[in-house]
Amino acid sequence: MSVPAGSEYVRRQNIALVLRSLRAFGPATRTELARRTGLAKATVGTIVGGLRAGGAVSEDESVPSGRGRPGRPVSLAGESIIGLGLEVNVDYVAAVALDLGGRVKIAETRSVAAAGRPPSTSELVGLASDVRATLLGDGHTIVGATVAVPGLVAHDNRTVSWAPNLGWDGKQLAAEIELAFGGECPTTIDNDANCAALAEAAHGVTVDVDHSLYITGTVGIGAGIVQDGMLLRGGAGLAGEVGHMPIGDPRRRCGCGRLGCWEASVGLRAMLRAVQMPEEATPLQTAIAVAARAESDPLVREALAGLGHDLGIGLATLATVLDPSAIVLGGYFVPLGQYVVPAAQEVLADRLPSAAIHLPEIRLSSLGIHAAALGAAEDALADVFAGAAPL
Ligand SMILES: [Zn+2]
Repeated sequence: MSVPAGSEYVRRQNIALVLRSLRAFGPATRTELARRTGLAKATVGTIVGGLRAGGAVSEDESVPSGRGRPGRPVSLAGESIIGLGLEVNVDYVAAVALDLGGRVKIAETRSVAAAGRPPSTSELVGLASDVRATLLGDGHTIVGATVAVPGLVAHDNRTVSWAPNLGWDGKQLAAEIELAFGGECPTTIDNDANCAALAEAAHGVTVDVDHSLYITGTVGIGAGIVQDGMLLRGGAGLAGEVGHMPIGDPRRRCGCGRLGCWEASVGLRAMLRAVQMPEEATPLQTAIAVAARAESDPLVREALAGLGHDLGIGLATLATVLDPSAIVLGGYFVPLGQYVVPAAQEVLADRLPSAAIHLPEIRLSSLGIHAAALGAAEDALADVFAGAAPL
């Protein structure tokens, strides 16, 4: 993305400042906005006028305005300004359309598990094109799209470096979406754990904290790390590949080929081995079946508590480094929370340098199957709130 020069850059930054203030602290009069942002009232007036003309904000016309009056509250509207989140996973593709005001306009999932193979890029492009047609038909503008993938994404946010569970390299994925959208929609790619972590922070169970850790629960285990409300990405964009920390059972071989990875002890298949049950069509269905068995079978409950212990070892390791205020478990952990979390929380309390000072609370994801696509949609709007995309 090119950086506009001089006054245009300042103008976009000021617009973004007003938008972020409205999103973070809610509606405000122009006078209050000037106070909140430190901008001159005349500058705020120009910005609000422009944003209002573009449909990004609205002013409450029912409140009388004029000299000596308190002023009309300005709110984020932006119902026609859309960030599109897409997700391609092992057994489904998903799309979420989110407007500037944080409202979900469309949420759609298409299962492709019946075919017994991972989705192809054309299935994702097909869903994206259908959703785009609906949005354009309703008069919406898509300002950007982000695709969540279960794999490593390079720092350019366009190149899938490694997605072994998908069976294709995804190097052209962003370009394919842009082509299908007629070159009008800048598209980026991000890791699914990062996207889900963003979604929980904006809409889910970590809206109340600035520092959180999101753990995916599928065949693989990945993490999205939020610090000061921002994703921690690392030097090459690969931070959060926690499933391959060498803290698992040293006899277990991981999908990456090595022995002793954490996910080889706490991933979906390790859990199934522990409870001696078969895999269902999706991780969620599998976990629901195991939870049902656990109700009546003490051996299954015992196996899940053991898994919770191993999970806690990894969470304690991560918490020691990252000091999250809360840890969110997603995927298959959600239906099994009552059997897994107590043991994990116990290890966490036992292994932290001082649980008395701070013990991160383990919470279960509340966003279900759309978490990653919703976070991708948030990411697609991020340039608008950062002043990097014109409105
Ligand atoms: Zn591994």
